[in-house]
Amino acid sequence: MVERGDFLHALENDIKPAFGTAAETLENFLTRGIINWGTPVSSLLEDGQLYIQQSRATEASGLVSVLLEGPPNSGKTALAAQLAKFSDFPFVKVCSPEDMIGFTETAKCLQIRKYFDDAYRSTLSCILVDNIERLLDYGPIGPRYSNLTLQALLVLLKKQPPKGRKLLILCTSSRRQVLEDMEMLSAFTGVLHVHNLSQPEHVMAVLEQSDAFTRRDLASIQRDLRGAKIFIGIKKLLALVDMVKQTDEESRVFKFLTKMQEEGGLDLGTSVQ
Ligand code: ATP
Ligand code: MG
Repeated sequence: MVERGDFLHALENDIKPAFGTAAETLENFLTRGIINWGTPVSSLLEDGQLYIQQSRATEASGLVSVLLEGPPNSGKTALAAQLAKFSDFPFVKVCSPEDMIGFTETAKCLQIRKYFDDAYRSTLSCILVDNIERLLDYGPIGPRYSNLTLQALLVLLKKQPPKGRKLLILCTSSRRQVLEDMEMLSAFTGVLHVHNLSQPEHVMAVLEQSDAFTRRDLASIQRDLRGAKIFIGIKKLLALVDMVKQTDEESRVFKFLTKMQEEGGLDLGTSVQ
């Protein structure tokens, strides 16, 4: 005989969500993997691991919330997804503004609330709230934002899960100051800064892992980058490399360096010869 318990068991274990499992959603953010281009990446992942351990620890409170903040294109979403994956928590939910396009404020709040309610039911849960300022409808011109959504998030960020349950909340934002002004920053257990690439070695580490350049090209780029001012997000840099790959091999170095300059990610002091 099929009993209520069987249904609940099936709900927990057998029924896959219509839009893919949480693990698949995380993989979507990680299609290009995480390149360890320097200490900023390794230390962020280490610190992230500590928060994950803290969120699992039995003696600690049941709630750990971490904000990953950094410039646009710096890799915040991918790093948050990587941490969610590391946590290996069975319940992972991604709450992203892309899934709530056209929602009214109330609908948005109800949806966020539902994610948290679902999470409280599981022993180990992780919620990734991507791009908080966008979720709050923040616009720099105005500036305006949804106070209703802000208040809902503030409450949920501080709310302890039921006894014995563990909740890890990972959030991303490229507007640290805005969150500070909204008094949201203090609600987090910890804030991790996501860095742009800023040293020639950082860029070289990424280029070496791509198959876009020959050994000679790499040496030539390394020479050109010496002493240059660099400030570029990993997402931008990878897009540039993809674009440069479309050109013939002889012109790649030139194309790469000029594009980096055009994008404002590179200042050589002089123009490329
Ligand atoms: P946005 O400001 O638009 O939200 P973002 O900061 O969230 O951008 P991502 O969407 O995470 O940036 O894009 C980073 C891309 O770079 C991903 O495709 C990711 O796989 C890749 N990547 C490679 N190495 C790293 C790294 N060390 N850290 C983060 N992302 C990396
Ligand atoms: Mg992002």
